[in-house]
Amino acid sequence: ETGRVKHFIRAIIDEDLAAGKVKHIATRFPPEPNGYLHLGHAKSICLNFGLAQEYNGTCNLRFDDTNPVKEDVEYVESIKQDVHWLGFDWADRQFFASDYFEKLYAFAVELIKKGKAYVDELSAEEIREYRGTLTKPGKNSPYRDRSVEENLDLFERMRAGEFEEGSHVLRAKIDMENPNLVLRDPTLYRIRKVNHHRTGDAWCIYPMYDFAHCLSDAIEGITHSVCTLEFVNNRPLYDWVLDTLELAPRPHQYEFARLNLNYTVLSKRKLIQLVQDKHVSGWDDPRMPTISGIRRRGYPAAAVREFCERISVSKADSTVDIALLEHCVRESLNETAPRVLGVLNPLKVVITNYPEDQEDVFEMPFMPDNEEMGTRKVPFSREIYIERDDFMEDAPKKFFRLAPGKEVRLRFAYYITCDEVIKDENGEVIELHCSYDPATKGGWSNDGRKVKGTLHWVSVKHSLPAEVRLYDHLFSAEDPMKVEEGQDFTSNLNPDSLTVLTDCRVEPAVKEFTPGMVCQFERKGYFCADIKESTPDHLVFNRTSSLRDSWAR
Ligand code: ATP
Ligand code: MG
Ligand code: MG
Repeated sequence: ETGRVKHFIRAIIDEDLAAGKVKHIATRFPPEPNGYLHLGHAKSICLNFGLAQEYNGTCNLRFDDTNPVKEDVEYVESIKQDVHWLGFDWADRQFFASDYFEKLYAFAVELIKKGKAYVDELSAEEIREYRGTLTKPGKNSPYRDRSVEENLDLFERMRAGEFEEGSHVLRAKIDMENPNLVLRDPTLYRIRKVNHHRTGDAWCIYPMYDFAHCLSDAIEGITHSVCTLEFVNNRPLYDWVLDTLELAPRPHQYEFARLNLNYTVLSKRKLIQLVQDKHVSGWDDPRMPTISGIRRRGYPAAAVREFCERISVSKADSTVDIALLEHCVRESLNETAPRVLGVLNPLKVVITNYPEDQEDVFEMPFMPDNEEMGTRKVPFSREIYIERDDFMEDAPKKFFRLAPGKEVRLRFAYYITCDEVIKDENGEVIELHCSYDPATKGGWSNDGRKVKGTLHWVSVKHSLPAEVRLYDHLFSAEDPMKVEEGQDFTSNLNPDSLTVLTDCRVEPAVKEFTPGMVCQFERKGYFCADIKESTPDHLVFNRTSSLRDSWAR
C-alpha cells in the first residue's frame, strides 16, 4: 500500500496528542439511514475508522436518525453490511442518535433555563423573512423575549402534542444581526407528527441536525468530529451549543472536501431517483457508485481503501478522475484474480487433423509465475471456440492473430494454421477449419519459427455457456450535473452503460468459483459471477473492469 500522507487532519491529531489536549482519539461515522452508502461515504468511513486504527483510538458507528420522515430500518441494515464489507468493525460501538432524544430534550430545557432558547410562533415563511440575507440584517421575532417560565411551559406542551406542525419551534437565542446566517437564532426543534422507525410515536418534536449532532458527539465523547465542507458555516453553532451548555471535555468539528468523481453522481437523493425511476436495476446495480453496487461489480474492498488513501483529504473541493479508482481496482485484481479462459464472442474452429476420439488435458497455472495459486486442468478437443475478433479474413500485415494461411498459438495448447473459412449463405463466417502441429504441444516450439499471436480458447464440448454483462460509465458526461436548460441529470445517462452478451463460453474450472470471486478472462478483463443472479445452470458474469488502464499518472 501507498505510504501515508500526513494530511491536515492527521496533523491536527498529532498536535492535539503532543500538546496533551487528548489522550485517545475518538471519531464517528454518522450516516443518516435514508439511503444506501456510496463512494463518498466510503471516503468518510476510511477516514474515520482509519484514523481510529492508526491512533489506537475508537470509531463509533452512529445512525443519525433524528429526521423520521425518510429513514428506514432497511437502510440501517445495508449500512452495517457496507461498513463491514469495507473492512471496518465498530464492535460494540453502535449508536443511534434517536437513543439520545430524552437527553437532547433535557439539554434544550437547560438552554431555555439559561435564557438561551425560546419558543417561537412565527410561521416558517415569517422566520425566513425575519432572518434577513447576507446583505440585510435580520430582525427579532416578537416572541423572542418571552420569560423562561413561559418558554418552559410552551416547550413542554410542544412535546405533549398540543400544537400543530409548523405552529411552534424552539429557537436558539443568539444574534439576529450576525454576519453568519446560521447564527441568526437557528431552529433547534420542530413539531413533526410522524412515526419514527425506532421511537415510534413517543415523540412529536424532533431536534434539528445542528442541535443533535454536536450533542451526540459530546455524549459519546468524540474528540475529532470530521464532516464535509458544507458544514463550515455551521461550526460556530456547533461550538455555541457546546460552549453555552458548558460541556467539557468537548469535541471539535473539522471539515474536509467531499469526494466528487467524474462520470458519477454521489448524492443519495439523486441515486434514489435512479432507482425509483428504474434507470438502474436497484441500489446494487453494478453500475451504481453505491458500496453495494461496486461490491456486486467485483471491486475489492482493499482497492477502495487504497483509493481513499491515495486521494487523501484536503480542504479544497475538487473532482477526482474515476480512472484512478479503476486503476486501484486493476492493481488489486492483478495480484489476486486467477487467470482462466473465457470466450465472449465465440467462433467455432475445427482442427481437422486432430483425431475425433482424442482429448488433451492441459494443466495450466491460475497465475503465471505464482505456484501458490495452483493450477487447473483444461480440456482440449477437436472442436474449440476462439474469439470472433481474433480472426480476420482480409487481415492487414500487422494483424498477428488468425487469418487464412496464418499460424497462431493457442494458449498453453498447440499452434494452429487456418486452412479454410466456412461461411453461411449471407457470407457470414461461421466456422474455421484449421490444422495443428502435434509437435507444439503445450503451446511451444523451439524450431525458431515465428508465431506472434497467442489466442485464448475453450473446448466446444467441455466449455460452459455463460451470460456476460459489460459495463461502461453510467453517465456519458464528465459532469453529469451539467445539463441543457429544462433537462435534469438523467439526460446525461449513458445509453450504452450495459451490454449483455448471451453466447459466451467459459472453461469448466470456473464452475468451482464462488459467486463474487473475481477472475481474469485472459486478454478480456476481470469478471465475477454475479452474487444475485448467477447459478451453476446459468452462469452470469459481471465485467468488473477491462484490462486497459486509462489512469494518467
Ligand atoms: P448525500 O449528500 O449523498 O445525501 P449525506 O451527507 O446526506 O449524503 P450522511 O448519511 O449524512 O449523507 O453522511 C454520513 C457521512 O458521510 C457524513 O459525515 C458525510 O459528511 C459523509 N459523506 C457523505 N457524502 C460524502 C462525500 N461525497 N464525500 C465524503 N464524505 C461524504
Ligand atoms: Mg445527510
Ligand atoms: Mg448531504
